This record gives sequence, structure tokens and C-alpha cells, in this order.
Amino acid sequence: MAQQPLLSVEEARARILAALSTTQSEIVSLAQASGRVLAEEAIARRTQPPADLSAMDGYAVRADDVANVPARLRVIGTVPAGGSYDGMLGRGEAVRIFTGAPLPNGADSIVIQEDTVRDGETVTVNEAAQRGQHVRVTGLDFRTGDAGLPAGRKLSSADIAFAAAMNLPTLAVHKRPVVAFFSTGDELVPPGTEPGPNQIVSSNNAGLGALIAEAGGIPLDLGIAHDNEDDIRAVASRAADADMLVTLGGASVGEHDLVQRALAPAGLDIDFWKVAMRPGKPLMFGRLGPLPMFGLPGNPVSAFVCATLFLRPAIARMQGGDSALHTTLARLGKPLPANGPREDYIRAALDHVPHELPVATPFDRQDSSMLSVLARAGCLVIRPVGAPVAQAGDSVTVLPLRS
Ligand code: AMP
Ligand code: MG
Repeated sequence: MAQQPLLSVEEARARILAALSTTQSEIVSLAQASGRVLAEEAIARRTQPPADLSAMDGYAVRADDVANVPARLRVIGTVPAGGSYDGMLGRGEAVRIFTGAPLPNGADSIVIQEDTVRDGETVTVNEAAQRGQHVRVTGLDFRTGDAGLPAGRKLSSADIAFAAAMNLPTLAVHKRPVVAFFSTGDELVPPGTEPGPNQIVSSNNAGLGALIAEAGGIPLDLGIAHDNEDDIRAVASRAADADMLVTLGGASVGEHDLVQRALAPAGLDIDFWKVAMRPGKPLMFGRLGPLPMFGLPGNPVSAFVCATLFLRPAIARMQGGDSALHTTLARLGKPLPANGPREDYIRAALDHVPHELPVATPFDRQDSSMLSVLARAGCLVIRPVGAPVAQAGDSVTVLPLRS
């Protein structure tokens, strides 16, 4: 494992995505479907609207009767939403109608009540009607058998309303993958405990758990392993029923690749373990037995950037969803030096400017341990390998960190 060329970020992501399979599907109620990824096309079980319906409160009429206005019509009945008018509307007649009510037979148009004056059994129409105006014709929205939502769709609130209208009380979605993870380090204690001398609080467990959940996975926090091979193997063995394993730390050269040495006897099969990026060069991907496995760097910002660039797309792919990174353009708020041989992910503030590109202003401190800077960052500015000096105002590609 010693001699391995650095992979590009793109190539590393492609290899990860190619190695993953999607989870099985399960049936969930609409109340549980938000943010889930459809496993099967959702097909309409009914036609909507089921009949020609009024789109307004007013009068159902024949357009020919109100071609010349004012026109006086005889009101022969009323039809509310959910009701019907069973008679036939003839020449010179109108039916009082409300939004969502079916058009009476013989009527072809709706005049809105604001364009009428009612006097007992008579209504005076003051505006001519286009034939079919304010009528929602049968099947305007969708018809029985229509393909409403495609497989692979991450369900929004609008999608769920659409599914309900199609009379689908449940949907087939991909199971959320269970992502087990643990940190390594004798210096780490959980938040809320009192660190001993020279110890620090583990931030990666909590942060990664949140990121996994945001990406649609089910986080399984296995805690903190000590810096020895036996403990790392013991903790990793508790991930057996998960869909994926992530280790944090113990991966840098200074740690002599502790995780790799610990898990080799447990069946670790490494695909790659170095990526040409900053922060986060010691990123490992492979399999532990059948389990896809990431080894993320321990530095909190490196761990977060690697999880954002690789683990999030992986979780999306396992759910059959969109694994693309949604980068966008921004203007630089200040100059940046030329970049070297590693793709750089620079923490930056992102300020929205109405009707223009947002402004990305890199923070001066880019140390990969600094969570105060990461938490303030609105985006990562992506500096390609070998990018030349950039000036304030230049357009750059950024990955927004907040939606
Ligand atoms: P390592 O990859 O184990 O060499 O860790 C690199 C740096 O990240 C060290 O300074 C660790 O103390 C720190 N670190 C490792 N794991 C965590 C964690 N879970 N939370 C906060 N810092 C960590
Ligand atoms: Mg360590």
C-alpha cells in the first residue's frame, strides 16, 4: 500500500460511486416520505379533475348568451363544491356556482361574480365570456395511469401533495442506508464529559452523525476507539449489520496508518487511500468484508470536507438518488494565490447580492482544525489543481454549504 499515486477528486468520487449498490425499497406513508428517494415511478390512480370544474365563484353560463353585454339571465339553481346540478342549462339561463363545483350540463363557461349583478331570480352579466373561461377541464392536471413522479426523485413537499392527489397513500422508497462510524484517538472524550490533561472533545462523532442524517442516511455512532489495533477491530466489528462503515482519524502518516493496519486482518480491501486535495489528503476508500468503508482524516475540517465531497454523494447513490455536487458560481471577495498540485477547498463567507452572483470571501485562517471558521463558512471555494492567481471580482466555482 506504500506506493500509490494521488487520485484526483473526480476520479476518487467516480470510483466510490461505481462501487456502491442501492438499498432495497420499503413502503412508507406520505407522512414519512419527505426527503426520501422514490424507488418506483409513482403512477396516478385517478384523473384530476375528475369532471369539468369551475375555477371561480360566479355563474355557469353559455358563452353565446353573454356575447353581448349587459346580458340578463334567469338563475335556475345553485351548485356548491362537492355537489351537482342535475338539470340541463338552456338558452338564457345561469346556475350559481362555486369554486370546485362541477359544470352543469349545457353550460360551457363561468363568469366571475364580480362581473355580475344579482337581482332575485335574475343575474345581469356585464362582461362577455370566452368559451371555456374559468373551467378546469377533466384531466387538466393528470389522468389515471399517468407517470407522475419518476424513480430516483428525492421527494419534496410539493411531490408529496402531488402523490396524495394521485390517491397514493403510500410510496415505495429506498431504505435509508445505515452508516456506522467511530473516531480513533486516546486524546478524545465525548462532549459533556470533563477532558483530562491533554485531551480534547470529539467533535467528529456529533458532526458526522448530523451530516449522515442530512444526507438521508441513518447514523450509527459507535463512539471512540483507543489508538490500538485490538480496540479498533473490536469497535469496527459492531458495524457488521450496517450498510457502510466510516472511520475517523488514525489515517495520517504520523499515525502510521493505524486504521489500515488494524483492519487488514479483518478483511480490509483498499481501493485507494490518497486523494489530491486539501484539506483531507489521507482519505481511504475500500471494503471491510462486504461493507463499503471510508477512512476519513481526523482533523475536523478535513473530515467534514471529505464527508461533504465523498460520503454525501455515496449516501445519495445508495438511495438511488442524485449524487451530483451542486456547485455554483460566485465572485471572489478578495484575491487568492496560485494553487499547487492539490485541489483546494477554501472555507469562505458567502454573501448574497440581489440579481448578481453572490460574493465568496475566503477566511484568512484555513487551518483544518478550526471549527469556528467552518461553522461560519457559507461555501467552499474550489480551486482546481494549478489554478493561477485569482483577483477580487473573478468568478470562481463554489460549493454552498447551506441550503
Ligand atoms: P489523526 O487523523 O488521528 O492523526 O487526527 C488528526 C488530528 O485530528 C489530531 O489533532 C486529532 O486530535 C484530531 N482529531 C481526531 N479525531 C477527532 C475527533 N473525533 N474530534 C476532534 N478532533 C479529532
Ligand atoms: Mg489520532
